[in-house]
Amino acid sequence: MATDDYTGVDLFIGGAWGPAASGSTLPVVNPASGARIGSVAHAQRPDLDRALEAADAGFRTWRRTSAFERYRIMRKAAELLRARADRVAMLMTLEQGKPLAEAKAETLVGAEVIDWFAEEARRTYGTVIPARSEGVYQLVVKEPVGPVAAFTPWNFPINQVVRKLSAALAAGCSMIVKAPEETPASPAELVRAFADAGVPAGVVNLVFGVPAEISGYLIPHPVIRKISFTGSTSVGKQLAALAGQHMKRVTMELGGHAPVIVFDDVDVERVARMMVSSKFRNAGQVCVSPTRFLVQEKVYEDFAERFAAGARGLKVGNGLEPDTQMAALANPRRLSAMEENVEDAGRHGGRIRAGGHRIGSEGNFFEPTVITGVDGEARVMNQEPFGPIAVINPFRNFEDAVREANRLPYGLAAYAFTRSAKTAAAVAAEVETGMISINHLGLALPEVPFGGVKESGYGSEGGAEAIESYLNSKFVSQAGL
Ligand code: NAD
Repeated sequence: MATDDYTGVDLFIGGAWGPAASGSTLPVVNPASGARIGSVAHAQRPDLDRALEAADAGFRTWRRTSAFERYRIMRKAAELLRARADRVAMLMTLEQGKPLAEAKAETLVGAEVIDWFAEEARRTYGTVIPARSEGVYQLVVKEPVGPVAAFTPWNFPINQVVRKLSAALAAGCSMIVKAPEETPASPAELVRAFADAGVPAGVVNLVFGVPAEISGYLIPHPVIRKISFTGSTSVGKQLAALAGQHMKRVTMELGGHAPVIVFDDVDVERVARMMVSSKFRNAGQVCVSPTRFLVQEKVYEDFAERFAAGARGLKVGNGLEPDTQMAALANPRRLSAMEENVEDAGRHGGRIRAGGHRIGSEGNFFEPTVITGVDGEARVMNQEPFGPIAVINPFRNFEDAVREANRLPYGLAAYAFTRSAKTAAAVAAEVETGMISINHLGLALPEVPFGGVKESGYGSEGGAEAIESYLNSKFVSQAGL
């Protein structure tokens, strides 16, 4: 595929691709160059009304489609996505910036997510509850909640959609996805895989536009029965409040500020190496990105130096080049946020051990950055940096580390490294988080829960529980006459 194959992305409504009724579009820009590479259709009220009508009709069809048939179609979609992974990855790199290998891995994991939920479709078991009287049957049956409105961000253009869409489809729901306007082509290819696999018209609908206009219209609309959002905590709170006013069910995957607790009994070199590649994956624009490194005093200097050396050694470049390890940030907002974070950290005692600057003047490139010794008031210690910045601070004992880990209102992911089984068990118990990975990187597989606590949101987008949020439990009590 040539890079100039990136052109225009349409809406997908009622089983057909097409432009917005008004013909209006929004530009799509390559973050590695700043050049406009294409456009995306900009849905407005008439398009949304069509999508709502389609999702309503699609739901009636899909809820009656057997779980086995849903499974069969979804497995086919996974196969198509796998077969098209090279092309899809190229589109993703062009619009999002990330290295091609990361884009391809995301696409292939997307196929795994579809497979997992396809299997789960066949296991939406209910229960039989022993009755108090003879001849009475008490059943709990699972039913799909109805048409879903999903809002997904630009950092993982496929992954953020596929988790929601696969769980919803497996449960028997239809969906209107508002995918990211900045990275529209790769999620459109995901939707195309479902459409080509035989998902009936109206079951999956894809729109783009002005996010607040679309959410403000879809969330209160009576056709929509469930909302799922991934993005910042501030936007999540607004959408959850709106959903609450209309008594809609919600799943919220919001921000994080993951602590990494490194105890002094570890192999420092190994942990530093592992965490450098994890921290700078997708240029740190990851909700579970390791961010606040808390390192026990005895190994603090050693760890900081090795980690900074690893960051300095990363090859930063265009995501299309095969040796690129970290690519452009997805949009200019992240670039200015990184510059502000670094400047502010300097005012709060931070020492820049690596990076700290924008690279060049074309595209959104920023150096992998490591800051040590910054105080707790600094912006980077409190707000999710969502970019290639790691902060490293020392701690004295277990209690200090846990206090700092739990200080923020976030609770999405956490990491810890120790050779002591006792410390590992204690840290797993004490850190307030939705997910914790100890001594390795073990988060975000399709079959394990994925979600946060506190202001990081609620609900899971992985594992057996993920499908539950798209199902209602209906109680049926039946006696003979
Ligand atoms: P933002 O907070 O405005 O937007 C975040 C996401 O929410 C985007 O995808 C956007 O399209 C969507 N959004 C914004 N307002 C919306 C609304 N009213 N209705 C529906 N969707 C809406 O800003 P941004 O610059 O795109 O991202 C900045 C911050 O968002 C980051 O610093 C990070 O904290 C957070 N973020 C989190 C994730 C994640 O995976 N949890 C992904 C992307 C961004």
